[in-house]
Amino acid sequence: MSVKKKAIAPRRLARTSTQSAKADPGRRAFPIATVMETLREVVGQWKKPAVTEIAHVNGDPFKVLISTILSLRTKDETTAEASERLYGLAEDPASMLGLSQARIAKAIYPVGFYNTKARTILEACRVLIDRHGGWVPDDLDQLLELKGVGRKTANLVLTLGYNKQGICVDTHVHRITNRWGYVTTRTPDQTETALRESLPAKYWIPINDWLVSYGQRICRPVSPLCSQCRLATDCPRKGVTRSR
Ligand code: SF4
Repeated sequence: MSVKKKAIAPRRLARTSTQSAKADPGRRAFPIATVMETLREVVGQWKKPAVTEIAHVNGDPFKVLISTILSLRTKDETTAEASERLYGLAEDPASMLGLSQARIAKAIYPVGFYNTKARTILEACRVLIDRHGGWVPDDLDQLLELKGVGRKTANLVLTLGYNKQGICVDTHVHRITNRWGYVTTRTPDQTETALRESLPAKYWIPINDWLVSYGQRICRPVSPLCSQCRLATDCPRKGVTRSR
């Protein structure tokens, strides 16, 4: 007698609230459009994150790239000031390569890992000159080939620098969309994949801006300010153990 082997279903790494609601009809799907429109209203009254401000003022993908590299593990005000000092010395890959690593490091101090970032900036500029004619590519895969550029930076260059569709998932987007239960993921990359499947296209570009601002002020990493949150009625506060 032949024994049929039981098929093993592939392990799901990421799930959105819509998929969960379909699997369990009693469960309410997260009202993403309502929440995003509330966010648009709340965040619109606040100062924009440093890299967004730089993108809006300059509209220059090179500056978006460099300022995003500077912003990693660095406070917003420090990124803005360091960017201004650096662009006072060089504003494109060719002139950046005319500076020494020490000069760049001095200009961008005190951003986190300023020596490493100075080296990364020079290496990225060398590749931009050698392979891309001094231009920043508008293609995700080509951006990811640049040293020091991960998915967060590459997506930000596409969205803020080129106004092309992309979803930049940083620690705030990852944390907050999981607290909403809109995605159930373990890493920012998984969150990006889940959001690409479920988030309405018109929110792809602004979600990063809005959730970075919201995550810095209200939905903070430790002890979020749920009592002041306009999204509280719709938020299941998944994984939140302490709040104010
Ligand atoms: S209710 Fe709390 S956990 Fe939910 S979005 Fe607001 S601050 Fe974040």
